[in-house]
Amino acid sequence: MQNNTTKTQVIIIGAGPTGLSMAAQLLRYGIDFIIIEKNEQTTHLSKALVVQARTLEIFQELGIAEKAIAIGQVTTAMNLFYKGKQKTAVDIQGLGEGMSQFPFALSLEQSKTEKLLVDHLSENGKKIQWGSAFSHFEQGENGVSAFYTDDKGNEQKIEAQYLVGCDGASSLVRHQLGFAFEGDTDPKLFYVADVKLSSPVINKNELFMFMIKKGFILFFPMEGKGHYRVIGILPDHKDTDPPVTFISIKNYIKQEVVCPLDFEEVLWFSSYKVHSRKAGSFQGERCFIAGDAAHIHTPAGGQGMNTGIQDAYNLAWKMAFVLKGEVNPGVLETYTSERMGNAKHLLQTTDRIFDMMAGTNPVWNFIRLNLFPPLSGIITKYDFIKKRIFPLLSQIGIAYPDSDLTLKSSIGKIKAGMRMPYFVFADGKQIYDYLSKPAFKILFFGDKNGSTINDTSIKIASHNFTEIPRTLFGNETDFYILLRPDNHISYIGKDACICRQLLNRINIG
Ligand SMILES: Cc1cc2nc3c(=O)[nH]c(=O)nc-3n(C[C@H](O)[C@H](O)[C@H](O)COP(=O)(O)OP(=O)(O)OC[C@H]3O[C@@H](n4cnc5c(N)ncnc54)[C@H](O)[C@@H]3O)c2cc1C
Repeated sequence: MQNNTTKTQVIIIGAGPTGLSMAAQLLRYGIDFIIIEKNEQTTHLSKALVVQARTLEIFQELGIAEKAIAIGQVTTAMNLFYKGKQKTAVDIQGLGEGMSQFPFALSLEQSKTEKLLVDHLSENGKKIQWGSAFSHFEQGENGVSAFYTDDKGNEQKIEAQYLVGCDGASSLVRHQLGFAFEGDTDPKLFYVADVKLSSPVINKNELFMFMIKKGFILFFPMEGKGHYRVIGILPDHKDTDPPVTFISIKNYIKQEVVCPLDFEEVLWFSSYKVHSRKAGSFQGERCFIAGDAAHIHTPAGGQGMNTGIQDAYNLAWKMAFVLKGEVNPGVLETYTSERMGNAKHLLQTTDRIFDMMAGTNPVWNFIRLNLFPPLSGIITKYDFIKKRIFPLLSQIGIAYPDSDLTLKSSIGKIKAGMRMPYFVFADGKQIYDYLSKPAFKILFFGDKNGSTINDTSIKIASHNFTEIPRTLFGNETDFYILLRPDNHISYIGKDACICRQLLNRINIG
């Protein structure tokens, strides 16, 4: 039976990390939304364990970064073993020193990350509609309607300006939009287990990776003594074989790891195939897809959840500014171009890392067993290597140089399209202390006062800085940086008129 029709500005389907982030971002901009989720509550599974630096920067703007750090653990070191012997120990604490306020990867279970976001929404008066299963949407020139069954079994309808499908890898929104989900599925079987163990070797709050002939076995530290996530690969498993259980592979793991190890408790076990896929587009008129609904990755590098959170971060400001009538709807098209480019690049990188870690042919075996251990040992010794690795893993290196919102320009090492580089002023304040406002910003670096831009209907926050970090900007002075609300650089250079032109181009009036 059809019941009520509710009206809002944005409908969000799915309350995983992407949908919850979309909601939290729209809240920052004062946009009304309804978020529906078919489950009764957040996941109880640990799933994504790594919260990357860029996600923590986004959490900082929401005011939840400190809480995340308080309940998570900073990953400090990675130990590589082969045939029971330690090959190298890589110190990864502070890998991103000087590049982010959060120069590390945080280990935090996805269930806790989701709970943080739910609590943040609820503290701000926003509830998730749990137990509500979306069935389909209808869209027209003036709006979009979503149909769903609520927790009492009643058919409901929501009318809005936009809909965002954050409904995971099997997304109904993506299916209804008719978007292909192109890519591959790895034929090998992977397993993941959350265990309590005791071992004289695997006994620290560090990563332990055991290189084996047919892949790897990774022990990822979780909260509490002896608590680890075990991830590995079963290359010889066939689809016709009986289902894998932890008991059936326990002895195989112990045998491959070689060092003494006792499993005391298994808290969660799952086996799965790894997919690398991307949708053909992320937007169909008034409907968008984000997170796993738009792209799924191999688990290499812990990027999946973080990418979904950044999708939401990218889309939310564009949607908010369109809904507030400050920018024209064409700006929304840059969501697909920017985030699809990123997803494509990420798939290529994670696939390469994954091939090396999980590949079982002789070439990958040679690289993994002979080249990787000594090479990984030097990562943290050389600054120029850290400066390449950390931005890639932490997602602070994501840039949109070819976007319609980027004007090709540069000063020193900094180019338009990049995220605003992190640095600390002599008084101890960080540049990001000035950038938390969800608004366009114009920064002027120089001795005089920069010209203000107040002749567009887009509200712009202005800041003047006399101190100029030379390592980033060389000897240049008197230049402007136009920042988008997500703190990516639209323009960096000496001409304030160019900023005005860009703003007028995307401006509604
Ligand atoms: C074992 C494992 C380890 C992982 N490790 C990492 C890691 O270390 N780092 C990392 O970044 N990522 C990791 N990932 C990936 C990460 O879990 C996903 O990328 C992330 O969950 C995607 O978030 P999402 O919100 O886009 O989708 P999901 O988490 O899948 O959320 C989608 C939500 O939509 C809801 N939904 C679906 N259909 C409907 C409907 N019709 N109506 C209403 N609601 C609906 C679902 O119930 C679900 O709650 C891992 C994944 C797994 C399985």
